[in-house]
Amino acid sequence: MKRIVIIGSGFGGLFAAKALKRADVEITLIAKTSHHLFQPLLYQVATGILSEGEIAPATREVLRRQKNATVLLGEVSDIDVAARTVTHHLLDRTTVTPYDELIVAAGAGQSYFGNDHFARYAPGMKSIDDALELRGRIFGAFELAELATDPGEIDKLLTFVVVGAGPTGVEMAGQITELARRALPGDFRNIDPRTARVVLLDFAPKVLTSFGDHLSDAAAKHLREIDVEVQLGAKVVDLDRDSITVEDADGSRRSIPSFCKIWAAGVAASDLGKVLADQTGAELDRAGRIKTNADLTLPGHAEIYVVGDMASLNGYPGVAQVAIQGARHAAKSIKGKNPGDFTYKDKGSMATVSRFHAVASVKNLRFHGFLAWLLWLAVHIVYIVGFKSRITTVLHWAVSFVGRGRSERVATEQQVLARLALEHVGADFVTLGQDPLQGADTARRA
Ligand SMILES: Cc1cc2nc3c(=O)[nH]c(=O)nc-3n(C[C@H](O)[C@H](O)[C@H](O)COP(=O)(O)OP(=O)(O)OC[C@H]3O[C@@H](n4cnc5c(N)ncnc54)[C@H](O)[C@@H]3O)c2cc1C
Repeated sequence: MKRIVIIGSGFGGLFAAKALKRADVEITLIAKTSHHLFQPLLYQVATGILSEGEIAPATREVLRRQKNATVLLGEVSDIDVAARTVTHHLLDRTTVTPYDELIVAAGAGQSYFGNDHFARYAPGMKSIDDALELRGRIFGAFELAELATDPGEIDKLLTFVVVGAGPTGVEMAGQITELARRALPGDFRNIDPRTARVVLLDFAPKVLTSFGDHLSDAAAKHLREIDVEVQLGAKVVDLDRDSITVEDADGSRRSIPSFCKIWAAGVAASDLGKVLADQTGAELDRAGRIKTNADLTLPGHAEIYVVGDMASLNGYPGVAQVAIQGARHAAKSIKGKNPGDFTYKDKGSMATVSRFHAVASVKNLRFHGFLAWLLWLAVHIVYIVGFKSRITTVLHWAVSFVGRGRSERVATEQQVLARLALEHVGADFVTLGQDPLQGADTARRA
């Protein structure tokens, strides 16, 4: 039976596995996280609306009834295209898995445009870890402000800066504003959360540039109405624990005192793109995405498909539908259905700006406001994986959007500090024999 290895359990990986459900193949899905992540709702985990479980069901539970699929947890470090094997690690255990055909859907991470040190004080928004760390930082800033006595320090603690005015940045800025204005007033005695400043920065001259001028202007207007400070043409040149330094279009520099900074700008494709490019001669684009053939395979390797955020083809955007449709296309090829070249069918895009207000671009229609928000709601309910998650998500949305509450405000010390602590200890933490499972091993799967 043909052995299919899929790397990644995101939109590309999971939908590829599902599309092969009835195929006479043996699937091994390998991913470095044990869950499928619904990234579009990460900002709601960060701002206490949803729990992480609601947007990240366990992949093995999702594929439980799919008997031709095996799920393995592990980070892929190497793909040997000549030997047709994938090498992956879990703690200090190394496993090598052979394949006949391979689907690579390892997605993308955050890019700091060459300033990786910014990550220390401005976490990105790509994973559950990121969202929980940000939740701790956002709610923690209000807690610290409650304790502070110096007015300058309180202002710094209550100034939230979101870098990047794409959909993620806009949604994040809108939700922090609603948190401060609607959810938290009354909870504190020494501060008024409504005085919090939320600044949305971008180097570009507009917010939501990919939505076109009409929706971009409408979103910027609504953001200003709900008290988000939109600062455009502003380039971040430095940041530290207490502030962020910005260069404006006229070249002048200014510093914004801010404790909580969120990085929602820039993506860089998985390093596995380079691993594949070095062996196949395929090119990488500026974001590290690998240029595929028109049918999503790699040059000279009809057995390797790259889909989703890692792939560069026809300028298709890094969105969930490109990954899902690409995954289904690869699955069709594997099933021998000869689908030919991959063409992305754009079903439209949406972004919420605040409660009951979204922008939507569907075919030739551009609209914003409550109707767009209802459409956003319907689409997200359909695409959230799992019936249980759909029910509890809708309940949590009712708590936050109809009421004023936030059901998921828990933030632990470890969530805020663990990333930096691990960085401090260094990558040798596991390899130095600190592996709590103490089971060094190398296995080759048949
Ligand atoms: C905050 C945010 C909001 C977004 N909002 C929207 C939106 O509203 N609408 C929209 O259409 N799109 C949105 N997107 C984009 C969308 O989520 C991506 O385009 C989509 O997830 C891409 O799917 P993918 O399968 O290529 O990658 P991903 O979904 O990122 O999945 C990558 C998978 O690969 C695994 N992986 C990575 N490296 C390795 C490795 N070395 N070894 C093993 N496994 C590995 C990861 O664990 C993960 O399972 C958003 C993205 C973000 C970050």
